[in-house]
Amino acid sequence: MRCGVYVHIPYCSRKCDYCAFHSITHWTALAEHALIDKIVSDAMVFSNREAGSAAPPVEAKTLYIGGGTPSTLGPGQLARLISGVTAALGRPEEITCEANPESATAKFLAEAGEAGVTRLSIGVQSLFPRLCTVIGRRPTHVKELERIRSEWQGVLAADLIIGIPGQTTDDLMADVTQLVEMGFSHLSIYDLSVESDTPLARRVASGRVVIPEDGPDWPAVCTTLARFGFVRYEVSNFALPGHESQHNLGYWRSEPYVGLGPSAVSTLPVGDGARRLVQTTDHARFLCTHPFHDAEVEVLDGATLLTEFLMLGLRIPEGVSLRRFRSKFGGELAEFFGRCLTDLEKHGMLVLDEHALRPTARGMDMLNGTLVDLLSNATRGAPG
Ligand code: SF4
Repeated sequence: MRCGVYVHIPYCSRKCDYCAFHSITHWTALAEHALIDKIVSDAMVFSNREAGSAAPPVEAKTLYIGGGTPSTLGPGQLARLISGVTAALGRPEEITCEANPESATAKFLAEAGEAGVTRLSIGVQSLFPRLCTVIGRRPTHVKELERIRSEWQGVLAADLIIGIPGQTTDDLMADVTQLVEMGFSHLSIYDLSVESDTPLARRVASGRVVIPEDGPDWPAVCTTLARFGFVRYEVSNFALPGHESQHNLGYWRSEPYVGLGPSAVSTLPVGDGARRLVQTTDHARFLCTHPFHDAEVEVLDGATLLTEFLMLGLRIPEGVSLRRFRSKFGGELAEFFGRCLTDLEKHGMLVLDEHALRPTARGMDMLNGTLVDLLSNATRGAPG
């Protein structure tokens, strides 16, 4: 079974105030070494080359190393990780590694290139120090990115945040323009999300930080990126043609994926449904668990799969394939949603043709409302 493979590196040099991802800020070289060994041994289990495997053998379609901050890994560890995982699961064409500017040193970039990383995804968030202070993140300096650009030969991607208190349209446009002119060919622009139990959530709750109702002018940002030749190939993701993340497209197409490392999630088909496996966040426990037998398991029934299939598939302009819908859910999409589909088409949110149900640009901007309309008006339930 060809799957996207995600590896979670649970280390960060410091914790950003808005972040709810699993990571720790203190660890030893020994612990890091043991963690990489365990991730490689779990990859062997998923490859079915180890006794005790409970799923069809997995072959990596893409490999994505995220976290956490993979660039905090010590010398040689990223190379060891990639060579171990690809020996078990095969070497895909696309290998992405996330990095933060301060730890993406010349040595790290050289090691990543030699190990076969093809895309480097840099956490930028904002190039304005005052905005980084608001969200409790170390500022990224343009000089750091210029150095990375000169030392990295592969594809360069960056993450930005929209909706930071005090962020203007001009601020975001300046960041986007700067990154494009520097040679970044993939930009992800995510809404600031206030995650519970984070320092940012506490500042919002106490009134010290106020989340604005209106942020930067999103349509203007989309228009500027289109002028630079970037295609909006997902609600929040833009790329020059050919530079889309194949790994993330796999999620939006509801393809199976394997997650390796503490807190990592896998979703694998089983019979008519699917199983979601979540690995523990306890590092000591992670080292002695079996990735199938000891993972937290969620059984996904037909209704859940149908909801996820639409929620993910309508995030991308290619939309939901009618053929895949038929083979997954045993019926025509129009039978499930009837009149509501026609209404959403009339309102310019969706387009249905003989191959797919696709969101319009307006439909992508108002995706939550579109999904609520669609799912609450389903005339037929999913099997299972
Ligand atoms: S560097 Fe990334 S993963 Fe680490 S705390 Fe900050 S946002 Fe979270």
